[in-house]
Amino acid sequence: MTDRKLTKTKYAQAINDEILEKMSLKNRYSFLNNNLMSFLSPEQFNFLKKVEKFCMRFEKKNNITHSEDEDMYDWIPAFGAEGLITRAHNFEMVDVNYDYYGATADFMRYLAMDGFDPQFAMGSGATVLAINPVYDHHEDIPQRLEALKDMVTGKAAGCILITEPERGSDAVHQLTTCDKQDDGSFILNGEKIFNTNAPKSKWAVSYASAEANNGNTMAQFLVNTEWDGWNCERVYIPWVPKLFLGKERLENLRVPKEYVLGDVGKGREHLFEGLVPERIGIAMGGVAQAWNALAHAGIYINLRKQFDKVVLIFQGVGFTYADLWARTSNITQGIIKFAENYDEKMEKFGGEIPGNIQQAMVVSASQFKYQATKLSAEVCYECANLMGGAGLCDNTLMHDLLNMSRIQEIVGGSRQIQQYIMSMAFRKLFKMSVP
Ligand SMILES: Cc1cc2nc3c(=O)[nH]c(=O)nc-3n(C[C@H](O)[C@H](O)[C@H](O)COP(=O)(O)OP(=O)(O)OC[C@H]3O[C@@H](n4cnc5c(N)ncnc54)[C@H](O)[C@@H]3O)c2cc1C
Repeated sequence: MTDRKLTKTKYAQAINDEILEKMSLKNRYSFLNNNLMSFLSPEQFNFLKKVEKFCMRFEKKNNITHSEDEDMYDWIPAFGAEGLITRAHNFEMVDVNYDYYGATADFMRYLAMDGFDPQFAMGSGATVLAINPVYDHHEDIPQRLEALKDMVTGKAAGCILITEPERGSDAVHQLTTCDKQDDGSFILNGEKIFNTNAPKSKWAVSYASAEANNGNTMAQFLVNTEWDGWNCERVYIPWVPKLFLGKERLENLRVPKEYVLGDVGKGREHLFEGLVPERIGIAMGGVAQAWNALAHAGIYINLRKQFDKVVLIFQGVGFTYADLWARTSNITQGIIKFAENYDEKMEKFGGEIPGNIQQAMVVSASQFKYQATKLSAEVCYECANLMGGAGLCDNTLMHDLLNMSRIQEIVGGSRQIQQYIMSMAFRKLFKMSVP
């Protein structure tokens, strides 16, 4: 029997000892690194290896098996202490200073974290969606800084409440209402759903409108889930059994004025400013899942024998793999280029990219989100397929990858919504280009 620390096996072991051990986190990281080393800068590569080292040690030290009965929310404080919840920014306002940060750094973080545990990586991504608006609108108010520090350092998880039972894709016509009081506080009433991490979060960033269905009256709030009026039950998504999503009933929930991130009329603008990092983050996640699947399958098909030959030799296997590999490699280089460009612009414009450039980046972010999640769903499925039964059983992370890669097409705006955004942007481009 193989060393269980390296496997996900909870039930019977279907893969032989030798191959299962060869698919260890260490070997999968090694495969990833050998693929990326030719196009990463030394700074990028060193940070990737640093995060990988931490994940390997963490997995070993804590006997992580990645099975469903582990509570991955228990891992957050350790990753937070290491500065691995997000590397998108430096957080000097809460005394958290990184020597390396930005969109490119965060991509490296995501690649390593996804190799370790894809569901955990996705959960941390949802906390980042709550971190970003507080980072952008803290205004040095102590209550907001406290929440920011809690989430960045892994003391508490965070979540974002946009989607409602009756309002999904149409996110600007929300039914949840906010009623402003004389003292500047607000009373929130309404329902939200599918909010990643919500049942495990201390902090939530929620949207509501002064007038239901009127996007011009949207506002944005930071909510402590311990406050009266917060009622949350878990929504169970079998494809991500370790992830806790919430359905919330906000019932006369009072938000003091210190926690109002965007007053009435500001909510929609705040919602849109988060879209570039959110969609690029999802694209990075999709690519990270594709690499993880390619690493599993790449090792497996080089070792698994049928008809007395390693199965990679058969064209049906080897050529299919080569195609998935090439497309993943190409999109990885595209996202790195986008992230480097984004980091350069953030530095050049002191953290605030001008509106017209931001506008162009919204389209690129949609293009990457659309293509990376679509590719990831194909790569993860085809890699599982190339592994035969071994790709479908619970012995490895393959079924997590297969299931999660399908979810990514919905989260952060569905495939059809990205297509809609792109087609409208193309119409604008046409009008700019052809008199
Ligand atoms: C795992 C998971 C995690 C999530 N995490 C969060 C979170 O943290 N916070 C949060 O607020 N939400 C979250 N969501 C919600 C997610 O953003 C929504 O599910 C998504 O926006 C789609 O909304 P909906 O489910 O209501 O589908 P609907 O909007 O009802 O869409 C149904 C179908 O109609 C299509 N459609 C709708 N409008 C159009 C259109 N104009 N043109 C073409 N097609 C259209 C859609 O593409 C889809 O195929 C999460 C969802 C999942 C599954």
